[in-house]
Amino acid sequence: MSRDDPGNQSADTKMNTIIEHIDPNNPDPEVIARAGDIIKKGGLVAFPTETVYGLGGDALNPEASAGIYAAKGRPSDNPLIVHIAETDSLDRIVRRIPDGAGKLADRFWPGPLTIIFEKSDAVPVQTTGGLDTVAVRFPEDRTAQALIKASGGYIAAPSANISGRPSPTRGEYVIQDLDGRVDMIICGDDSRIGLESTIVDMTSEEPVILRPGFITLEELGEVLPGITLDRGLISEDPDIRPKAPGMKYRHYAPRGELTIVEGDNESVISYINMKTGEASEKGLRTGVIAHDERTGMYKADLIAGIGRETEPEEAAHRIYTVLRRMDDEKIDVIYTESMSEGGIGTAFMNRLTKAAGHHIVRL
Ligand code: AMP
Ligand code: MG
Repeated sequence: MSRDDPGNQSADTKMNTIIEHIDPNNPDPEVIARAGDIIKKGGLVAFPTETVYGLGGDALNPEASAGIYAAKGRPSDNPLIVHIAETDSLDRIVRRIPDGAGKLADRFWPGPLTIIFEKSDAVPVQTTGGLDTVAVRFPEDRTAQALIKASGGYIAAPSANISGRPSPTRGEYVIQDLDGRVDMIICGDDSRIGLESTIVDMTSEEPVILRPGFITLEELGEVLPGITLDRGLISEDPDIRPKAPGMKYRHYAPRGELTIVEGDNESVISYINMKTGEASEKGLRTGVIAHDERTGMYKADLIAGIGRETEPEEAAHRIYTVLRRMDDEKIDVIYTESMSEGGIGTAFMNRLTKAAGHHIVRL
């Protein structure tokens, strides 16, 4: 079941992947125990969380972390998030818990918030991509918590997709990407939130958001009034790099070419319809991503609604499913409406901009 040398797994070494479906409210203890054993022996298990599905290995075992990078095809300087199932587990893996970090943990854990600490010697550099800091999250999902406990308390888990593809928000997407590359895939429900965690760096003097997510700047500011968004995320100056190593990569991308179109509704609709018309004439398959209020106004082979404009959480919840549907339908060119920044809109636009490789048309 577990590999002798997980670090050497290449894309073409097919392994036998066990696939288990569980009841998210009552995960079968037998399945969890078996999955926990796989992780304790250095193997890899993909599992549901409330954000997106994770690809888990023992965070304190350098070979398991190396195996995660190999299975995903992930650049090895892009650190992994360590998942715990009780706040007390922090003591073993961090050097100290700054006051502000304690406040964040009290308010938002378990939940979709990742906090960066100075790491202790217990955490191998293979897990942290060579950094002396470690990212930690305490997820709220029951299956995730049970698995972490059954695995010894520390699971390193990035999103359970092949690097560069949209993060998986349902079990079948994990199977598409990772069947034959990991020991076990546990399928539960669709991810409740559907967007990766908010990441906050507590190792610098002032707290900084390195990746926007479901927990917003506004909510975090209630606990830590001085908190700001990493300038590298908002600046269009390519010399100002994001501080989270992973945020510099093109990411979350569908296979088709994605363009964001900004402007007033009328101009956006006529521009997109002109572009999809031109593409169709060339024999390309076209897709449009729009708010539900306007899906009827576009012409394309696939028009995907991301919810009403008044429900930005819905857009965040659906975005990865929509991008994967574009792939399933073999769409070549995709145009999308944008969303206003602020609240969850910041996280949504961050992921969309990266998926589009920063290709934005402003009308
Ligand atoms: P993923 O788990 O695939 O959603 O990616 C994890 C994200 O967390 C990446 O963007 C990483 O760069 C970021 N991250 C993990 N550990 C650290 C750390 N120690 N310092 C800064 N960013 C981190
Ligand atoms: Mg990811």
